[in-house]
Amino acid sequence: MTPPPNSISSRNVAVIGAGAAGLVAARELRREGHTVTIFERQKQVGGLWVYTPNVEPDLLSIDPDRTVVHSSVYQSLRTNLPRECMGYSDFPFVTRPDDESRDPRRYPDHREVMRYLQDFAKEFKIEEMIRFETEVFRVEPTAENSCKWRVQFRSSSGVSGEDIFDAVVICNGHFTEPRLAHIPGIESWPGRQIHSHNYRVSDPFKDQVVIVIGYQSSGSDISRDIATLAKEVHIAAKSDAYAKESSIYSNLHFHPTIERVYEDGSVVFQDGKLIFADAIVHCTGYKYCFPFLETKGYVNVEDNRVGPLYKHVFPPALAPGLSFIGLPSMALQFFMFEIQSKWVASVLSGRVKLPSEEKMMEDVIAFYAKLKSLGIPKRFTHFLTDPQWTPMFEKLKPHEAVLISQSEYFNWIAEQCGYSSIERWREEQYNIAIKKDDDNFRDEWDDDDQLIQEAYRDFAKFIPNKVWST
Ligand code: FAD
Repeated sequence: MTPPPNSISSRNVAVIGAGAAGLVAARELRREGHTVTIFERQKQVGGLWVYTPNVEPDLLSIDPDRTVVHSSVYQSLRTNLPRECMGYSDFPFVTRPDDESRDPRRYPDHREVMRYLQDFAKEFKIEEMIRFETEVFRVEPTAENSCKWRVQFRSSSGVSGEDIFDAVVICNGHFTEPRLAHIPGIESWPGRQIHSHNYRVSDPFKDQVVIVIGYQSSGSDISRDIATLAKEVHIAAKSDAYAKESSIYSNLHFHPTIERVYEDGSVVFQDGKLIFADAIVHCTGYKYCFPFLETKGYVNVEDNRVGPLYKHVFPPALAPGLSFIGLPSMALQFFMFEIQSKWVASVLSGRVKLPSEEKMMEDVIAFYAKLKSLGIPKRFTHFLTDPQWTPMFEKLKPHEAVLISQSEYFNWIAEQCGYSSIERWREEQYNIAIKKDDDNFRDEWDDDDQLIQEAYRDFAKFIPNKVWST
């Protein structure tokens, strides 16, 4: 139900983080008439895409007192999606032939994504809302039953302060706190270990025998990167759906998961195969982490489920004052940030209503029960994808797959806030892209020319006078 226009209100909103999620959240909030302050602990916009050669002193990032490095981007990283479907809907991620320093490839490098985010921030004058080098260390309701939120922060020069807001939108990213798989014997295994969060270049692995655990996007990229220099790279992966021999790297081998490692440096896989290795690279994903958030137990992270959250965004008991943008992983990220932000902005203004706290809670409980009944582990609560094309979920029947289908999710949110559904070409490009994991998928494609044309026809609506092109 849309209330009459005179009941639409403007709120004072804090956004935590100026990465791809925080930037678009701020734009949508301001478009809806809210006053926005973005807190960003780095010196610039871009979040994860601000590449740094620096890594954390503890390469597994276990030490809770370590100096945290935010980015997990490695030097060779290129996007895992084609640029057309990766961008925000009304600010297309197109090439910039007017600028030779830009990467014109369809799957550009990380610098190009960073430049795109900088362009976005400039175009929509986002920087004027940002307090750079300002870390938020506590977010809490001002008092029991209060609708206001206290945000405490500290600048890089050590000055602390606090401000009171009507709402807080959390966009702090979730690719900084490594998750490690338990490996029997690992405490006394003598080799070098590193989590992908701290991987930047392949040089330290020259001529070594390296085990890479995990074969999602980072595992797939990093194993190939290391294979250019290493003696052998052995991938330990849960699903054999990925186990295709590389056409380029004859030193790249696939195995099932690791059963145990030993003091003599050996690594034994589930099929009994034994390898003596110099290093293990853990590409085992990340944990959600909100060290600043104090909600008296209303929001918790349990086995990587942030909850309870209504549609991955609003905690029923604290909505709409507290919201999260960007929790679902795998899905089309920038598009999702944009559409979730539109929803949050329109709920905060009162233009769109949320169900009652009880109804939202019922929905959350039903969602968790359904995940359980389908055998989807708790830690995959925030997985959204096209299940049909994702090997991990391809066994789900169509009516079951709806639960974790990104398109269903996007279209549901779009309907809530009166926005258009996901474009057909965007959805299909994603479906084609996530199936690809061969060596050359970023440079050789011939299967979606039609979709590219459709995308550029849409883009013409947003960039009619600019020199950007295919
Ligand atoms: P981030 O970019 O991490 O931004 C969060 C921001 O919050 C940071 O700037 C951080 O400094 C700030 N912050 C955190 N805590 C605080 C605090 N307490 N106070 C103040 N500021 C704070 N997605 C794609 O679409 N395509 C890809 O090709 C792709 N490749 C990826 C490759 C890797 C290796 C990884 C890890 C992810 C990749 N992703 C990709 C997903 C990527 O996470 C998203 O694209 C997106 O950039 C994440 O944006 P975000 O704003 O949610 O988080």
